[in-house]
Amino acid sequence: MSIDRRGFLKLAGTTATAAVAGTAVTAEARPPKVMPEEAVGLLFDGTLCVGCRACMPACKQANDMPPELTPLKVGPTGETNAVWDAPLDISGHTLNVIRAYRSGEGTKKDQVEDGFAFSKKSCLHCVDPSCVSACPVSAMTKDPRTGIVGYSVEACIGCRYCVAACPFGVPRFTFDTPTPKISKCQLCKHRFADGHYAACAEVCPTGATLFGKVKDLKAEIARRRSLAPGTSTTFPRGRIDGPDSYVGTVGKYVERTYGEKEIGGTQVMHLSGVPFELLDKPELPSVSPASTSESIQHGIYYGLLAPMGFLGVLVAAARRTMLERGVEPPETPPPPKSSSSGGTP
Ligand code: SF4
Ligand code: SF4
Ligand code: SF4
Repeated sequence: MSIDRRGFLKLAGTTATAAVAGTAVTAEARPPKVMPEEAVGLLFDGTLCVGCRACMPACKQANDMPPELTPLKVGPTGETNAVWDAPLDISGHTLNVIRAYRSGEGTKKDQVEDGFAFSKKSCLHCVDPSCVSACPVSAMTKDPRTGIVGYSVEACIGCRYCVAACPFGVPRFTFDTPTPKISKCQLCKHRFADGHYAACAEVCPTGATLFGKVKDLKAEIARRRSLAPGTSTTFPRGRIDGPDSYVGTVGKYVERTYGEKEIGGTQVMHLSGVPFELLDKPELPSVSPASTSESIQHGIYYGLLAPMGFLGVLVAAARRTMLERGVEPPETPPPPKSSSSGGTP
């Protein structure tokens, strides 16, 4: 191979440009994943929630989770006085919590000043979930038909990448058990075969938590928004296509539906009478971080091909220079001899 200095610089420049271009082209965000036609989810309407918290023990019972005790006093022999199962947040043993906003006198429902409002925290079943994207062994999966984001304890290796990846802080790890695992809401999919559905929705007395197909829930959101605040109407209760209902009045909603656009949309959507930033809901972009990060990762791996070609050019040029100067370049080392005396039988 003969190449002069000018030619070498030209080739090196072209190769480097190809490397950068290869990475840049493939680092464009991949197309966002779309909501499955038959996707199911929840609608939480904070204006209908009365704060009874029936959905919290129902969730525990449905998922066979123990109560959590908040210690008040520990006695000399370790005996404890504690608050019975009133968790402040989701945890390895709590998949669903109802929280409250309160300001001033705290007497006016769904108002910012001197008001109070309820919100629900549980997995949102993202359309393009970061937890699924981050999991290296596909222990987190998204069902292609229902869109439910599920978890397999058998596949999980306990790396907790999903914990770090979820922008809503949902997956939790049961550090306090001998066989730790990830905990998150799986939309009670284990109950579907028996004709049941999300326990939190099934037990909710007002339909504040409502289960159903996402397209039907979205139509119900549009119906509620089309009615004047204070209008008396019948709300579906339990599941949107079920027989149960609740008569109440339409709330004065803030314009935004939380979950409609956040990180590409979610299958659990929230309506509220107070701004979501007061309810500790994170501000997020409308693009899924999963689509961007996967594209960058794949772009880096793909882009390594071009730098490897560039490295080959450098090695060839170095060998040529050594030969020109009368220096023998090193040969490729021979394969190591086997230390074992035994062969294949
Ligand atoms: S059961 Fe319904 S009304 Fe009661 S706290 Fe839960 S969501 Fe609110
Ligand atoms: S909210 Fe978090 S845990 Fe739930 S699907 Fe989205 S990324 Fe995964
Ligand atoms: S769908 Fe099931 S697991 Fe999820 S919050 Fe409701 S009751 Fe809990």
